[in-house]
Amino acid sequence: MADPAWLWLQCPLYLQRSALLADPDATFDDFLPEALRFRAPAPLVDIGANLTHDSFARDLEAVLRRAQAANVTALIVTGTDRAHAEQAVALAQRFPGLHATAGVHPHDASLWNGALAAAMGELHQRPEVVAVGECGLDFNRNFSTPSEQERAFEAQLGLAVENGKPLFIHERDAGQRMREMLHTWRDDISDAVIHCFTADRDTLHGYLDLDLHIGLTGWICDERRGHHLRELVRNIPLDRLMVETDCPYLLPRDLPAKLKGRRNEPSLLPWIVREIAVWRGNDEAELAHATTQTARRFFRLDTASEAQETGRAQQES
Ligand SMILES: [Zn+2]
Repeated sequence: MADPAWLWLQCPLYLQRSALLADPDATFDDFLPEALRFRAPAPLVDIGANLTHDSFARDLEAVLRRAQAANVTALIVTGTDRAHAEQAVALAQRFPGLHATAGVHPHDASLWNGALAAAMGELHQRPEVVAVGECGLDFNRNFSTPSEQERAFEAQLGLAVENGKPLFIHERDAGQRMREMLHTWRDDISDAVIHCFTADRDTLHGYLDLDLHIGLTGWICDERRGHHLRELVRNIPLDRLMVETDCPYLLPRDLPAKLKGRRNEPSLLPWIVREIAVWRGNDEAELAHATTQTARRFFRLDTASEAQETGRAQQES
């Protein structure tokens, strides 16, 4: 594959098994200004980290060290198409504490066909893959037409029913149609999270009525467009809420120091949790603990870690 990030992952040095995420002496390094070195009061799970993005290719190990130092101890690496899902699986194989999702983003829905469906179905069998997605509907940009998006999403709902894994869903400006489709499929799918929720009150309550989970990002830290979320977040039951950076995107806008490169990363998750805690009126540690419990249950991380560990041991023997 010609993708430079992927080539880098093939490097033998990189392939040596790393125990970075298990290292209790993990430290922040110079990349982060002192004022941005947060540490969560309880271990966190970042449920949406696009670590296969090119911007992480050069310093991924340092990024993971900083995550550990910030007490972000588990990461779900988002797989948005076949190549990135395969890369996400490769990362989850190398680094304890990392897991992957595998799906086709609504932007790429026009590429959906039988061969892609079969490849996704195979990826979903892997122990590293803990959710079907990122998939869904994005009527904001319509890089694929709405009907192409619905077709690809419907097919991935079907795959989730087949393998029983939960769904990691993207929705932008498509709340009404998303609710209709999920209403039809709700009894058959196991669980679903609307990641990076940014919509309005009615949409939120519609999702909660469907017994879905909600993922919140640093969007809430954006004084220009995240304002409405500040009143809404307290309506999300604590056991339905998970947190994510969606890095490298969505760098929180209200950080107390400037970050060179403007790249978001998992070590900044504690800042987002702090902000959500303020607007919900929760104790920060209680919120951190609850979102982690929810994520571990939702993605079945204990079972996944065990299966991944067995896979690694077999590879090594
Ligand atoms: Zn998304």
